[in-house]
Amino acid sequence: MTTTDSGKNWLTPLLASWRAQRAWILEQQIAIARVAAPTGNESERAALLQQDWRNCGHHVTSDGAGNVIARVDPTATPHRTDGRPLVCLAHLDTVFDAAEPLAVRQDGTRTYCPGIGDNGRGLAAMSVLARILRQPDVRARLQRPIELVLTVGEEGEGNLRGATQWFDDASARGAMPVAAVAIDGPGDRTIVHHAVGSRRWRIAFTGVGGHSWANATTPNPVHAAGACIAAIARLADASRPYGVIAVTRMHGGEHLTGVPTHAWIDVDLRSLDPERLRTMAGEVERIVRRAALDASQHTPAQALRYTITTLGDRPAGMIDEQHPLVIAAAAATRAVGRVPQSASASTDANVPLSRGIPAIAIGAGGSGSAAHTANEWYDDTDSDIGIERLLRLIVALGTAERLSG
Ligand SMILES: [Zn+2]
Repeated sequence: MTTTDSGKNWLTPLLASWRAQRAWILEQQIAIARVAAPTGNESERAALLQQDWRNCGHHVTSDGAGNVIARVDPTATPHRTDGRPLVCLAHLDTVFDAAEPLAVRQDGTRTYCPGIGDNGRGLAAMSVLARILRQPDVRARLQRPIELVLTVGEEGEGNLRGATQWFDDASARGAMPVAAVAIDGPGDRTIVHHAVGSRRWRIAFTGVGGHSWANATTPNPVHAAGACIAAIARLADASRPYGVIAVTRMHGGEHLTGVPTHAWIDVDLRSLDPERLRTMAGEVERIVRRAALDASQHTPAQALRYTITTLGDRPAGMIDEQHPLVIAAAAATRAVGRVPQSASASTDANVPLSRGIPAIAIGAGGSGSAAHTANEWYDDTDSDIGIERLLRLIVALGTAERLSG
């Protein structure tokens, strides 16, 4: 990374002023977490943040998926850059359904509320970024546009739908970003530059069923599912550590004394390596076909049918520790006195990484635990350190002349 601005002193007062805004940032975070945003139903929370950005003076748009987008253009003419934007993404959705009570309870520096950290913290940080990027002295130094994107459908069955839409659109416009930063949850030291890819399948077997004595040779879907589970367990043992496979749910049968008509299992496959993910998926498919054939061998006329339904599909990808984007994030981490830690996760950064766009995911300060549970909590201790790290990073990436090595 090459910087145009030799002295970074101009940034110091700005960072100090935001470090002093801890209480305000936490207030935003709580207000955001209080608005339900189940995956697929993020519009109320999206509207809240959209209004906040408009109040800051941004021109805010949304796309076909429901993502909220603000673009900040440099005020001075950038030199020696290709004009490709930097994109910052934070997901709007939570894993909680609309019925989940979003009660906030405070205990010292801790705030308890479902979604308070994931991604209340990341979204509150986007409110800070929206304000910082309105500052004339920041915009005057920008070497590239910065797009702020609040994404829908990041969690679970959302399958990174919002991020996928944004990158599809950028690709269709021929305006892919130079780099992407996903801002997800609390934290001030981890840098996610390995995107865990996953495929989640429901594998279902169906047969004609019958009486368990009178129709003893009728192909049995539960037997096929059982054989399938045993074979997948062997494959899982052989695939670790580079690939992880788990049968996570199972169901089947109707009566104690009947050959069942149906059975299904859910399988979760994960890897950092797209090729390995493809290979494992192919092997699981072969196992399923074999199990259906084996269970049908005595009465082929009643052969079992099977279906494989995709419940989740997240692409894998990675950049290494020596990539300029990771180096920039590590430098911002060290600048606030933290030791950077590499990590792997499944975030909005999966989408750009799988398409060859450098991307990382980082937290937005503070700490927390029990994400994706009703007991989720966030601790605001030293949260200003993480906010400063994030601001340093985004300003560095926005004002650097070059982002490639
Ligand atoms: Zn998250």
